[in-house]
Amino acid sequence: MPFERNQERSQGAATPPAASKARAFLPWIGLLSVPVAAVAAMLAEGAAAAWMIGAGCAALAYCATAFGMPAGAAVDDDDDEEGDGGVRSAARNSAVHGGSLAAAAAKDVLLRAIEVRSTERTAILDAIADGVILVDLHGETRFANKAAGAMLGENATVAGTRDAIGALPPQVLRAVQAVVEAGGTERRRLEAELRDHASTPVVIHVSVVRGHSESLAAIMVRDVRSEREADRMKSEFVAKASHELRTPLASPRAYAELLADGEVGDDAQRREFAGIILSETNRLGALVDRMLDIGRIESGMARATLEQVDFGELGRQCVEEQQGEANRRMIALKLSRAERAAVAQADRPLMKQVILNLLSNALKYTPDGGEVSLEIDTDNLARAVVVSVKDNGLGIPEHALPRLFGKFYRVENHERIAKGTGLGLNLCRNIVEAMHGGQIGVDSKVGVGSRFWFAIPMDQSARDQTARKAA
Ligand code: ADP
Repeated sequence: MPFERNQERSQGAATPPAASKARAFLPWIGLLSVPVAAVAAMLAEGAAAAWMIGAGCAALAYCATAFGMPAGAAVDDDDDEEGDGGVRSAARNSAVHGGSLAAAAAKDVLLRAIEVRSTERTAILDAIADGVILVDLHGETRFANKAAGAMLGENATVAGTRDAIGALPPQVLRAVQAVVEAGGTERRRLEAELRDHASTPVVIHVSVVRGHSESLAAIMVRDVRSEREADRMKSEFVAKASHELRTPLASPRAYAELLADGEVGDDAQRREFAGIILSETNRLGALVDRMLDIGRIESGMARATLEQVDFGELGRQCVEEQQGEANRRMIALKLSRAERAAVAQADRPLMKQVILNLLSNALKYTPDGGEVSLEIDTDNLARAVVVSVKDNGLGIPEHALPRLFGKFYRVENHERIAKGTGLGLNLCRNIVEAMHGGQIGVDSKVGVGSRFWFAIPMDQSARDQTARKAA
């Protein structure tokens, strides 16, 4: 037919000039539609892609005849080096050799385009952390990505087997059958545990995928261990926080009731009760402040205001501030070492807060007459300022060390020795690690004493990298 149209045009038959012009463009439009069909085929899904291939072939065959080429010649496959996916070479071949073989070449090109697309899709699916498995109604695997293999065992990725579905809880197959039979857009969400050694908690989504001739089901398996752990920690935090807020409220309330009922005899007792109320409400205020500070840092709302900090000078100031308490307890408190070069970019008030916290802990958990010292060093290898607070106090049992920087943790028998919130060290860790990209730690031995230390990087770039990791 297109060939006839060409003849008609050349004979100048009763075709209106505008229509004739339009027809002159048809072969070119046909030629153009080949790469368009190739690209579309790369983007389209199964049946649609097949349709695109057909359309592309038809377009190319049309061009071949429209340009007046004979059919049936061979196609030179080596001529495909132009980086255009071969469409141009196929078109040129068809221009030389003819319609039907040109159509075959075009089909070849388009099939190759599909192959490339399929490889890319597999690569994308393999890059996903969730397990993705495509199964038929009977649970036979058509495709499974790498993550599915890691979760369910390597055999789960073998197409044509039922290993993947067999490694999943039985309700998954039931969900597969239900969604495939229902068709439409039905999806199922299941919470389950994998039958692996860790009984990994997973969330599974099952939805329908329309194949060429049948409906399949896509199963997405997500490992939710870390989400569950975060939820557990949140609930634990809320429970502990409520408890910690309730306890310090009890005693000021009781004293306030006594004062309000006029049950307090003399002024001295009244002052004493008022003093208790004041100190307990201060403690409560400090607890709430710490909770807010930690919340701000963990949510990323708090930002360090960096300036050049001379840690030697800052350490001297902190020791001076704690000297009154040390004297009262007859504890020898001193700045035993302060390196001149211990200077780094840091948030000064926050650094002071950390040092004061460590010093006040050292004083709290060291018996009267003990020794506490502050040391400011530089670690030239790590390019960091290192601040250490040493005491010869109670020390910390080994089992408590890993939990010491957690929220609300207090060593059992220390609760009787000194009042505290169990949040101070957690706040210090947040300030040092999340806000300054530093490190904090402790060495301790029961009955010998403790050394709390923290390191702040001197270089901005090192700080940024570590802070990002800690956040
Ligand atoms: P707290 O307000 O209870 O002191 P922290 O978070 O600062 O809270 O400290 C947590 C726990 O670590 C303390 O309750 C205490 O048991 C222990 N601890 C901290 N510093 C020392 C220290 N220098 N010596 C012994 N134990 C300490």
